[in-house]
Amino acid sequence: MTSISTALGTALITGASTGIGAIYADRFAARGYDLILVARNKDKLQSLAAQISDKTGRTVEVLDADLGKAADLARVEKVLRDDASVTVLVNNAGIGTHATLLESDVEKMDAMIQLNVTALMRLTYAAVPGMVARGGGTVINIASIVAVAPELLNGVYGGTKAFVQAFTTSLNHELSAQGIRAQAVLPGATRTDFWALGGLPVEHLPSEIVMQAEDMVDAALSGLDQGETSTIPALRDVELWNAFEAARAALAPQLSATHSAPRFNVAV
Ligand code: NAP
Repeated sequence: MTSISTALGTALITGASTGIGAIYADRFAARGYDLILVARNKDKLQSLAAQISDKTGRTVEVLDADLGKAADLARVEKVLRDDASVTVLVNNAGIGTHATLLESDVEKMDAMIQLNVTALMRLTYAAVPGMVARGGGTVINIASIVAVAPELLNGVYGGTKAFVQAFTTSLNHELSAQGIRAQAVLPGATRTDFWALGGLPVEHLPSEIVMQAEDMVDAALSGLDQGETSTIPALRDVELWNAFEAARAALAPQLSATHSAPRFNVAV
C-alpha cells in the first residue's frame, strides 16, 4: 500500500518490538500516524513494521537501539531533536522484577534505572522543546500501578515508576499552556513477556488481576482522548483517584513553613 502523508505526524514508540509497545504501534497507525519504532530486536521491529504498513499504508521506520546504552540512546535523542514530524512520543520501554532488595543484584537495579528513568527522561528532553516550538505535542509515559503501590513488587521498580508519574505531573504543570499533553499510564498486571523476563511468568499470577495488553492500551488511549493526565486502566471507581489527588492538593499549603509542626515539640 502507498502511504499518504499525514497531518497527524509521527509517533515514536519505544519498546515497540513486543507487548504493550507493539499494541501502541498498531493503534497509532490505525489512527493515521506514521511511526518510528524503537527497541533492540531489529527482526521483530521489521516484521511488525511490515505488517503495520501493509495493513494501514502508513510509513513505519525502525530504529534498533539499546536505550540502556548511552550511544544508542543519543541516536534516538537526535532523531527526536531533528525530526519535526514527531508529534507523539510514547515512552514505553521498561523492565521490572518482583525480587526484593535482599534477592536482587544492584547492577541490575542500576540498569533498570537507566532504562526506566534516564532513557525516558532524556528522550522527553529531546522531544519536548521542538514540540513546544511547533505549537504542541503528546508525551505518553508508561508508568505502573506500583508508582502508587510500591509494596507490590521490587522497590527500585516502584521507585522508577513513581519517577515517571511525578515527572509526567510536572510536564503537564510546566507545559500544558504551551501545547504539551502528557499522560502517565499506570497499568496493573498485563499479559506480556515482562513478567517472565522479570523472573515470574504471568501464568503464576491470579488470572482475575491480569489484563490483556490490547484492552490495557485501548483503555489508556480512551483515557488520553478523555483528557486524563493519569490513567489506571483497571480502576473502576475513578472517585478514589480524584480523592487521592484532592488529598495531595490539600497537603500543598502545609508542606513548607517557617517552623516545624507543633507535634514535634521543637522549641524555637
Ligand atoms: P515487554 O513485553 O517485556 O516489552 C518491553 C519492550 O521494551 C520490548 O519491546 C523490549 O524490546 C523493549 N526493551 C527492553 N529493554 C530495552 C532496552 N534496553 N532498550 C530498548 N528497548 C528495550 O513488557 P511490557 O509489559 O510490554 O512493558 C512495557 C512497559 O509497560 C514497561 O515500561 C513496563 O514497566 C510497563 N508495565 C508493564 C506491566 C505488565 O504487567 N506487563 C504493568 C505495568 C507497567 P527488545 O527486547 O527488542 O529491546
